[in-house]
Amino acid sequence: MNCIHCKEEINPLRLKALPGAKTCVNCSTTGPKKGVVATFGEKDHTWNDVVFLEDDQYEKYLKQQKKVKFDKIEEVEDPTKKKFDLNNIADEEE
Ligand SMILES: [Zn+2]
Repeated sequence: MNCIHCKEEINPLRLKALPGAKTCVNCSTTGPKKGVVATFGEKDHTWNDVVFLEDDQYEKYLKQQKKVKFDKIEEVEDPTKKKFDLNNIADEEE
């Protein structure tokens, strides 16, 4: 049997393991999966579960996470800026 994408012959061992395979290994759309822990539900009815993502979904997830963290840092840093300002700490010690 030949791959429906590149028309190359599918490795017989692959067909033996996956009798329904229509593509060769190189053309297979199944890539490595990434797992992330997510919280579902709301209020008292929440639970954590592992969600498996394709590579492109994981990229989106990472971008989202970065954005969320960035927003949180912005919110937290502004009111405490004076407290942790290195120049102010140095002045107090003198
Ligand atoms: Zn192929």
